[in-house]
Amino acid sequence: MAKVLCVLYPDPVTGYPPKYARNNVPDIKGYPNGQTVPSPEGPLGFKPGELVGCVSGELGLRKYLESHGHELVVTSDKDGADSTFDRHLPDADIVISQPFWPAYLTAERLAKAKKLKLALTAGIGSDHVDLKAAAKHGVTVAEVTFSNSISVAEHVVMMTLSLVRNYLPSHQYAANGGWNIADCVSRSYDVEGMHFGTIAAGRIGLAVLRRMKPFDVHLHYYDPHRLSPEIEKELNATYHETPMSLVKVCDVVNLQMPLYPSTEHMFDDKMFDLMKRGSYLINTARGKLCDRDAVVRALESGKLAGYAGDVWYPQPAPVDHPWRRMPYEGMTPHISGTSLSAQYRYASGTLEILQCFFDKRPIRSEYLIVDGGNLAGTGAGSYKLD
Ligand code: NDP
Repeated sequence: MAKVLCVLYPDPVTGYPPKYARNNVPDIKGYPNGQTVPSPEGPLGFKPGELVGCVSGELGLRKYLESHGHELVVTSDKDGADSTFDRHLPDADIVISQPFWPAYLTAERLAKAKKLKLALTAGIGSDHVDLKAAAKHGVTVAEVTFSNSISVAEHVVMMTLSLVRNYLPSHQYAANGGWNIADCVSRSYDVEGMHFGTIAAGRIGLAVLRRMKPFDVHLHYYDPHRLSPEIEKELNATYHETPMSLVKVCDVVNLQMPLYPSTEHMFDDKMFDLMKRGSYLINTARGKLCDRDAVVRALESGKLAGYAGDVWYPQPAPVDHPWRRMPYEGMTPHISGTSLSAQYRYASGTLEILQCFFDKRPIRSEYLIVDGGNLAGTGAGSYKLD
């Protein structure tokens, strides 16, 4: 019998279950690179389209786990020395957490988690786990690769249009009863003809490029590995040897690389100095890719015309986090990868990974980040331990 400790975001303040706007979500069969969607065995413990990412939703796992004799503890209480998470961690075999409400598995916490074998990310991005410490302690780290990549790519397109066209302030004028056209359009432009670049062209970054192409922008990208000539031709995209070269020419810059020690604070005062005056920065990757206060300075000086994203540090962000109040921001809480459509896929993938783990079958290599004491699978391509 295993103890599964699952950290999820709190229920809606309006109660659970919510009243759903639609009856279902589209059934996606596969991903653009040919990878198949999760395929757990047996029935799912929820209906596609239900809110399962919050505490009462339990990722739909309770029936499966308890019918197999396992214990499931679900909590949103994850921070502070006496949190429910900390109290259960020492005898947990498996921790499940979502990047939206991350249970930070630091080296100190991993040292106390003597029984831990699997740290499972219900979603994508396992930087809330100290990967080096996980490797040292022989903990397998896995995530549900591709489950919410398109969800995030759609969010990036939305945020790009929203910033460039000055949507949020204009909406606010209308909602407040105003008709201030001149105020609304004083910062409103078309994206057509602009230079749009993404730093990292992995699953999400490439999907963003493909979605931006019909807007007749000039596309740019930087990634440690160059895309194939066929894809570069399809997109008519310019490859840059460095992120610095890209930011010098782009009007909109999108961040899509993973967070690991050497990408932390890649966007600092020095990087902002290189950007064009009036650039827009979109960050749905991780908050710590940017120096928090340098972002505020760049907006205040006019170097950045706008900053939008859904990732912060820490999460949840404190109420006095400056990104909540800085000028020209289009921030949301961390929601892009947890639409009801995405939850269907990552909750199914979580079940698939658990079934593989308990049945001693291999976990798909594309889901692995750390295994056997080292980076593995997708982790070996996308992350570095230092
Ligand atoms: P992928 O692994 O498909 O892509 C990551 C890409 O980043 C790879 O192409 C990798 O290059 C590249 N990369 C690695 N290091 C660098 C670097 N130093 N500079 C530039 N590029 C680099 O991941 P996804 O596209 O699925 O996800 C990317 C990130 O987005 C996740 O790590 C996560 O942090 C975030 N995310 C956010 C979500 C949200 O809800 N906001 C949801 C899902 C993900 P290569 O492999 O060629 O070496």
